Amino acid sequence: MNLLLIDDDEVDRAAVLRALRKSLVDCEIAQASTAAHGLTLAAEQQFDAILLDYRLPDMDGLAVLRALRGEKFEHVAVVMLSRIEDDGLAEQCLEMGAQDFLLKDEVNGRRLSRAVRHARQRFSIESELRSSREQLRYLSESDPLTGLTNRRGFESALTAAINRSHRDHDCLAVLLIDLDDFKSVNDTLGHGSGDELLVDISRRLSASMRDGEHLFRLGGDEFVVLMTHCGQDGQAMVLADRILLTLQEPICVNETEQSMSASIGIALLDSGIRDPMDILKCADIAMYQAKQDGRNCSRLYSTHLQEVLQKKADIKNDLKKALLRGEFSLHYQAMIHAVDGSLAGMEALLRWNHPRLGMLSPDAFMSVAEHTGAIIDIGKWVLHEACCQRRQWQAQYPALAESAVMAINLSASQIKHSTLVGAIQHELSSYALKPGMLELEITESALIQDASAMVTTLSNIADLGVSFSLDDFGTGYSSLEHLRLFPIEVLKIDKGFVAAIGRDTKGECLLTSIIVFARALGMKVVAEGVETAQQAQFCTEHGCHVLQGYFYSRPIAAHAFAAAFLHEASHGQQTASS
Ligand code: C2E
Ligand code: CA
Ligand code: CA
Repeated sequence: MNLLLIDDDEVDRAAVLRALRKSLVDCEIAQASTAAHGLTLAAEQQFDAILLDYRLPDMDGLAVLRALRGEKFEHVAVVMLSRIEDDGLAEQCLEMGAQDFLLKDEVNGRRLSRAVRHARQRFSIESELRSSREQLRYLSESDPLTGLTNRRGFESALTAAINRSHRDHDCLAVLLIDLDDFKSVNDTLGHGSGDELLVDISRRLSASMRDGEHLFRLGGDEFVVLMTHCGQDGQAMVLADRILLTLQEPICVNETEQSMSASIGIALLDSGIRDPMDILKCADIAMYQAKQDGRNCSRLYSTHLQEVLQKKADIKNDLKKALLRGEFSLHYQAMIHAVDGSLAGMEALLRWNHPRLGMLSPDAFMSVAEHTGAIIDIGKWVLHEACCQRRQWQAQYPALAESAVMAINLSASQIKHSTLVGAIQHELSSYALKPGMLELEITESALIQDASAMVTTLSNIADLGVSFSLDDFGTGYSSLEHLRLFPIEVLKIDKGFVAAIGRDTKGECLLTSIIVFARALGMKVVAEGVETAQQAQFCTEHGCHVLQGYFYSRPIAAHAFAAAFLHEASHGQQTASS
């Protein structure tokens, strides 16, 4: 037996040696008089047991025990020696891994052999336990389909990587990969083929990983790469491009070739993420953005992106209550006859007085309203409010010509909704408005979706006597077919062309040709976005019928509109007639 005796007291050491030599026939005993020396010896040689005096000059026994707890000493039996009986201390030592606690005059070969035997047994039980624990961990952390480490495994790897990156001041990136439209593979080819595809993809991705890049499968069609030692965000973006490229090569599943793409969200540990464990959530936010931006691309998380998305989410949420809370209002922008500068009408433009964000323009919420379907009720409200206002002004200012139209914007989903015709009829009759007073503005993008159904709806409305104008003309399809197919009487030329006046001759040319062409079709031509006297003059000289823009007025609240355009008109009428 190979023993190490650590004790600073020479007399005690001699007594212990004597006792041992008496009862143990075959043993080598090394000696140390300080903890430091003892630990050095223990590190250099293999001992079966260490006899450790509790009181040493340079370290107390518990501290030495702690130092001996490392993996290297696991199979070594440590027997504590003490001069005094102390049950509390003995218990503490045993808890810390000591095999036995003996009074110095109790030491004998038999007890020592027993301690060594126990230490060996404990060592073998513990290593068995450890290996079954490792096996369990492997099972619980790996994905049976692809053999990749799963979400659980990712979480522990992430925790470890975060700790390491803090210690080494190293940057860490998480790339969340979500396959695009994987559901349709499952739906069309079946789940078996979907699984085959996932296995193939994970094999491919694994093969493309380099040093410091670790692939995991989170579940379903979601994978994640943990990238350590990534210098700047550039490196993570390069990896994302490589992944997208890898996925592009066609995959053969069920004898058909599939080509996959993915949306990738990237988050770097240092990009303003407060809690490191949130890094996956941040990558998820960026991934969502990649999906929004058309898929098959990657996006990088930033606090700005988070703010933008948060604002969008807030808007979506608040929009549900805005109508009930009466937060919407209409602003009106004057439309002016080019020939004499008189009022041709007004365009109703929606505003949302948001409780926190203040007055919002449609650009801030219209796409959300379209997406959630809230636009249907909002559109109904706009129609109702604008008709009510038109009626009120007519009663207040009798001079307001019946020809001064109220222009109202319609969205695509409103036109598709079955209630539109009825709603228009209802508003016209309840406010006793002549149909000619209404002009509904639509955009070409609204017309291309299900054109034949659109033609029917629009024709039904036109039959009532309401007119349509084609808004933002020149920015979309600018299709002659649309003008032939749909009952459109007014062409509203987009402000981009008006802005070209005096700046860009090609733009000017386009503007004049659109005017000529619309007039040739017998349409009324409106120029919007008129901001300067020069633009107004140009549009007038080239034959626009109606002008609209900041040069005349911004969109303003109803009372301001009345003060600016209606008082004057009615006052002018009165003085003219008196
Ligand atoms: P739009 O129908 O093309 O309306 C004209 C937009 O140009 C308005 O923006 C108006 O404020 C702005 N504008 C007017 N004159 C000038 C000018 O001289 N210079 C410049 N730079 N801009 C000018 P707004 O009010 O923010 O409305 C944006 C868009 O939201 C509208 O574009 C329209 O498509 C939509 N929208 C507004 N109200 C409604 C509504 O009640 N229902 C629906 N479906 N859409 C609406
Ligand atoms: Ca408009
Ligand atoms: Ca427009």
